[in-house]
Amino acid sequence: MEERLTAPRFRQRALGGLLLDQGFYAGIGNYLRSEMLFFAGLAPQRRPMDLGPTQRLRLASVMRHVIQQAYREAGVTNHPAWVEREKRAGATRGRWRFAVFDRDGQACHACGDQVSRRMVTSRRLYYCASCQSG
Ligand SMILES: [Zn+2]
Repeated sequence: MEERLTAPRFRQRALGGLLLDQGFYAGIGNYLRSEMLFFAGLAPQRRPMDLGPTQRLRLASVMRHVIQQAYREAGVTNHPAWVEREKRAGATRGRWRFAVFDRDGQACHACGDQVSRRMVTSRRLYYCASCQSG
């Protein structure tokens, strides 16, 4: 992943679009893109070339973790503690399944600020501007 993120054909591209490019990494669906960027703390317009080695490593690690969790937990990518908190409060699956995806206007599980939605590469992307300022 480090090699891909630093490759000349990928390093200058915004992560919001790059993560959906099947030539970069096959199999990342639209909801995974939002979740990965959230857990990596990165704004979608950031490019691999803007990131230091630690941030790139964190992104690569988050990508693998989110994919594995989604596979293992039938599409649930939210942090387990936040899932439990929402379940205890009686929330439906739609409210606890994701960290940010499809949650525009709702409170960020991490900081309480409002989750936003924007179109990136003609697909819905959800993010928390406070948590993803990196
Ligand atoms: Zn947040």
